[in-house]
Amino acid sequence: MPVSYMEVNLSALRHNLRVIRQHLPKEVECLAVVKANAYGHGAVETLRIALEEGYTAAAVARVEEGQELRDAGFTCPIYVLGLPLPEDMPIGVNKDLILPIDDTVDLESLECIAALSRKTIEVMLPIDTGMNRIGTHPEDVEAFLEKLKKYPHIHVKGTFTHMATADHKEKDAALKQLDRFDEAISHMPVNKDFVISSANSAGVIDIPRSWHNLARPGIIIYGPQPSDVMTNKLDLQYAMRLISHVTHIQTLHKGEAIGYGGTYVAEKDMKTATVPIGYADGFPRCLSNKGVVLINGKRCPIIGRICMDQLMVAAGEDVEPGDEVVLMGRQGEEEISLDEVAVTAGTIPHEITCDLKRIPRLFVDIDYDKNC
Ligand SMILES: *Cc1c(COP(=O)(O)O)cnc(C)c1O
Repeated sequence: MPVSYMEVNLSALRHNLRVIRQHLPKEVECLAVVKANAYGHGAVETLRIALEEGYTAAAVARVEEGQELRDAGFTCPIYVLGLPLPEDMPIGVNKDLILPIDDTVDLESLECIAALSRKTIEVMLPIDTGMNRIGTHPEDVEAFLEKLKKYPHIHVKGTFTHMATADHKEKDAALKQLDRFDEAISHMPVNKDFVISSANSAGVIDIPRSWHNLARPGIIIYGPQPSDVMTNKLDLQYAMRLISHVTHIQTLHKGEAIGYGGTYVAEKDMKTATVPIGYADGFPRCLSNKGVVLINGKRCPIIGRICMDQLMVAAGEDVEPGDEVVLMGRQGEEEISLDEVAVTAGTIPHEITCDLKRIPRLFVDIDYDKNC
């Protein structure tokens, strides 16, 4: 077993996927957003469970991510969320990925690649309703659709927009975005197969009007709530634990400093433990002298600066080399939640899990509800 790893609980992923699916009416399809290796949790494993739970498609950020899923054997529709440049298009066309296009995408190249491959390719129209990231503005949709008529190998499968503030308590701005989206849709050739999508996780939970006929949850698949000010909550389980093991113990004597810069000085003799995980693994360096870990079910503060590959903690007298260290998740009666770590690090849970890239994943299937 690796000394530091991310334990991903497939049972928790399945629980969350099921709760989300059950929260939506049957007639609303749901895809699983598995970009960035499923927010760090394993895209292949997550998507496999999602499809078993009635999800009909996947969404990824880039064509390379879609290619990886195709190469793993998935045949479901795969939506790419980020705009393609011409160099991405051959993979997109070759792997039958559903690409987004707006009025800044090189349509000549896309048409040419599709025609050479003898394919009509499916595309989505992202609409910029206020996020100001990608997409055509509602007032330009008519002209854009007119322009698309020149490209017979490009077929519009549907449209989507992205809400910037769906996780706020006040939904006025999000609802205004949905009004703008309706305006854009009114110019589109809508039939029963036309895909319309605007619900991210917060929309799924709190804004039924955003469901249309395809929902796109991401973060809630992995356990965190989109924010702590939402009207509704789903019963979700954190799907990962971050585990390492003590490699070294020693006594830090009164007045001695520990780690780079000597930023922590012992006020009295104390026992310390060294843990082989650091910022190169994606464990945030800003948790230096701020974060905590669990050893033997007890909270142990991180002392001194977190190094590239190791960190040091104030340990209890009972700690031994080889003891399990939990940096995120439960150990015994104690828990350090992903949300707690994100708050202490001054960021969002998404960034924490996505950053943990170097350590291996270990997939387990533990139903904690049944065990308790
Ligand atoms: C990442 C992303 C999502 C999922 O967002 P969550 O807040 O994680 O649910 C949905 N749609 C688009 C376009 C995205 O980029």
